[in-house]
Amino acid sequence: MESNFDLVIFGGTGDLALRKLYPALFLADCDDRLHPQGRIIAAARQALDDAAFRAKVSEALMRFVPEMVQGARAECLQRFLARLTYFALDVNDVNQYRDLKKSLDERDSQTVFYLSVGPALFAPIIGGLKEAGLNTAETRIVLEKPLGRDLASSRQLNSLVLDAFTESQVYRIDHYLGKETVQNLLALRFGNTFLEPLWNRTWVSDVQITIAETVGVETRGEFYDGTGAFRDMVQNHLLNLLCMTAMEPPSSLDPDAVRDEKLQVLRSLKPWTQDTIRENIVRGQYRAGSMAGVPALAYVSEQGVSASSSTETYVALRAELSNWRWAGVPFYLRTGKRMAERRAEIVINFKSPPHSIFQSPLVPNRLVIKLQPEESVRLYTMAKASGDGMHLREVHLDLDFKEFFPERRQDAYERLLLDVLRGNPTLFMRRDEADAAWRWVQPILDYWATEAGPPIGYAAGSWGPPASSRLTARGDTAWHEERSV
Ligand code: NAD
Repeated sequence: MESNFDLVIFGGTGDLALRKLYPALFLADCDDRLHPQGRIIAAARQALDDAAFRAKVSEALMRFVPEMVQGARAECLQRFLARLTYFALDVNDVNQYRDLKKSLDERDSQTVFYLSVGPALFAPIIGGLKEAGLNTAETRIVLEKPLGRDLASSRQLNSLVLDAFTESQVYRIDHYLGKETVQNLLALRFGNTFLEPLWNRTWVSDVQITIAETVGVETRGEFYDGTGAFRDMVQNHLLNLLCMTAMEPPSSLDPDAVRDEKLQVLRSLKPWTQDTIRENIVRGQYRAGSMAGVPALAYVSEQGVSASSSTETYVALRAELSNWRWAGVPFYLRTGKRMAERRAEIVINFKSPPHSIFQSPLVPNRLVIKLQPEESVRLYTMAKASGDGMHLREVHLDLDFKEFFPERRQDAYERLLLDVLRGNPTLFMRRDEADAAWRWVQPILDYWATEAGPPIGYAAGSWGPPASSRLTARGDTAWHEERSV
């Protein structure tokens, strides 16, 4: 049985809350995964009453999960809306937290504070919660990215939150870790015997992790222009996927056992020098181009973006791990906006067989773990083509999760929110992980701030600057989409 809860969402009328958090909670509710008396309290600046707020959420659910709102489960909409209340507050007004406390004190339930606001509001909210005595040992606090913009600000943020809460109460969210396929990566590696003996420098030639988006900056130009692809994607999502791919088997699924192993990966990342930054990182920005035949603007012409912006919208880099398992194996990470395709995937390229007895060329095996848009695992292998002779062709074995698990797949935010309510921090970043990730990327930020020229242009709708293909070619490999299928 789930326990009773009060989930307070600061910034509860914002884009993230409406687009992701309420739909995720609604879906969990429809599946009876929320305690019947659990409450969701939106705390935000607008003057709204409960009815107006519920209408706003109802509209958002219509837009983002229409099949659920209108489908056979429509009856749970009313139940879900009844959980919602609205609390108007300016987060800078300390007195208002006392009123919030009164409404929370009435109940014996698990309190969770979700900070779905810009990072500038973290300090006043944490200060207000502390001042009102709302930071009791039983509460939990969820922090949305960005968790700092460099090592110093991330440490400052961690000190701030840990001045009011203990580490075990803090949930630093990275929604990529909530994706079902990321956990399936653990199942695939540690629930089977066939892969683990191959999962190392002897058999793997390189690893590629891609998060490619087709969208541009949409309505978030101003935010993005001050952030860039590297801080938005590499420092958190891509590094977390790298950790899940490269980590040693944990001794159990205990939250700290998993996070200790992830931390070891971050600590094994080869530190940067100015030379390796120059050689192994490609920084790009999209120019005008075309997306599926429709003309697309250049980044610098997007709303909210400075016309002379040198913010990167694309990064590709080659990282290495200094440990026994992975020494010498390149890990290529890349992310970009306005790319040819929306795709998030982890590709493990295996080495070629040591000797070929066939006339056809052998294409090395590849394991492709797809996270987006659909979730699947595909193993590319060689097989004999039918007919005369021994002609080999590349074919693939597909693990289509939908076929084996036809029930609805949990959304990443849904899983993570349920984990917070249940008190399971396995899929959340610990302070030392966040610190190690920032420590590794800081020399890159320093170099770009002083030494680097402008990012290289690439056409919207392409796979990024040609320099990124040269990066993999130097390592005698090619990006997944450039290889034959
Ligand atoms: P948003 O601008 O749409 O919403 C901000 C919310 O904060 C609103 O509810 C607003 O009322 C509230 N707010 C602002 N000032 C306030 C004040 N003084 N007192 C009380 N409430 C105040 O922002 P968003 O897009 O929802 O993003 C929220 C956070 O989540 C940001 O840190 C963002 O970087 C992060 N994030 C957003 C997304 C996304 O897809 N939108 C994805 C990942 C992370």
